[in-house]
Amino acid sequence: RADVGLYRAKQAGRNRTVLESSRQLPLAVELREAIDTGALDVHYQPIVSLSEDGGQAVGVEALLRWSSSAQPDVTTEGLIRVAEEYDLISDLDELVLRRACADAARLQDSFAQLDLTLNVNVSGLELAESDYADRVSGILADTGWPAEQLVLEVTESELAAESQTALGNLHKLRDRGVRIAIDDFGTGYSSLSRLATIPSDILKVDQSFVAAIRSDSPAPPLLGVIAALSKSLDLQVIAEGVETEYQAAVLTELGFALAQGYHYSDSHPVAELISDLNDRRGLVGAGIPEGDHTAT
Ligand code: C2E
Ligand code: MG
Ligand code: MG
Ligand code: MG
Repeated sequence: RADVGLYRAKQAGRNRTVLESSRQLPLAVELREAIDTGALDVHYQPIVSLSEDGGQAVGVEALLRWSSSAQPDVTTEGLIRVAEEYDLISDLDELVLRRACADAARLQDSFAQLDLTLNVNVSGLELAESDYADRVSGILADTGWPAEQLVLEVTESELAAESQTALGNLHKLRDRGVRIAIDDFGTGYSSLSRLATIPSDILKVDQSFVAAIRSDSPAPPLLGVIAALSKSLDLQVIAEGVETEYQAAVLTELGFALAQGYHYSDSHPVAELISDLNDRRGLVGAGIPEGDHTAT
């Protein structure tokens, strides 16, 4: 596959369901080209406060958006799996991180006035590369985005793969001011003792727990446990996938302070982000600059 610059990453034992391989290669080739030409989009979804100033944004999560002509129905999760399988993930994650930091830096005045963090997803595979922390520092230096306003999200199941290099990177990044969120928390079966040893700042509770909050059934008991756990480990906690007012009310009652989901806002291209956040604050026309929205 050297002709197309692709090769299969050694993924033995990762035990992931991957797309049928005959359909994956054209997608991987197309994705490789999109990465090389930067023809990918990053959209941003607000993370909001559940407390009395309810609905105010405290941050945004950067999410990859790309449509493949080889496979128009592929989800972002499917794309990430293909990128991991064909060893494209490092370049892909780096491109998203760089784009997101550059977008945020361009809107720095607005981000600063709204006091927003930038959350970016990172594959566990990338985190296990020895120079990862330094590459992140390089991107922060290049774009001028402050480490203190960056949160890197890594899924619980990917962290569960024991790696001293990954742990070393997490320590280095945190020493430099970057915060770490454990994404899709509650689905990866980490032991509590292990959780306490992962250098992290934030738990993002998997949306399956939130989806189970329905007015016709009792709230999932694990949600209360996770709220208490995060308090005792001194971790922030974010509920993902909040789609209804009822779910927001139950989560608030359980002690959750932060949420993300369609009930508040979907993800937007950066050009629409600041006006969405301003609407949320009732600050339309109140002088928060919208910045230069031309694409990078
Ligand atoms: P995630 O990090 O857990 O992101 C949250 C996902 O839930 C996003 O899906 C988002 O669009 C979706 N979502 C937000 N609010 C709601 C809601 O109220 N209900 C429901 N049902 N879904 C909601 P998306 O964008 O399709 O991304 C899927 C996953 O792909 C992400 O899950 C993340 O793990 C991964 N991903 C996305 N962008 C990147 C990236 O740049 N790098 C890496 N390594 N992974 C990424
Ligand atoms: Mg995430
Ligand atoms: Mg998640
Ligand atoms: Mg996810």
